[in-house]
Amino acid sequence: MSGRHRLIGTESPGGLLFECESCGRRLVVDGESGEMVIVDHGDRAALHRGAMGGVKLQVEKGL
Ligand SMILES: [Zn+2]
Repeated sequence: MSGRHRLIGTESPGGLLFECESCGRRLVVDGESGEMVIVDHGDRAALHRGAMGGVKLQVEKGL
């Protein structure tokens, strides 16, 4: 399964949590540093995009 996936953002204590509804990828963006940490990789071949509030996120393939 690959292609384009959509990330759904929710607020969490550690920052913004983005979750993919297609492959289960989860990542957290730190609210202060903006650093992105991938929690679950899911489908690495897919292009992931998401937005929440003023934060737009696009994760390149292979990450
Ligand atoms: Zn995905």
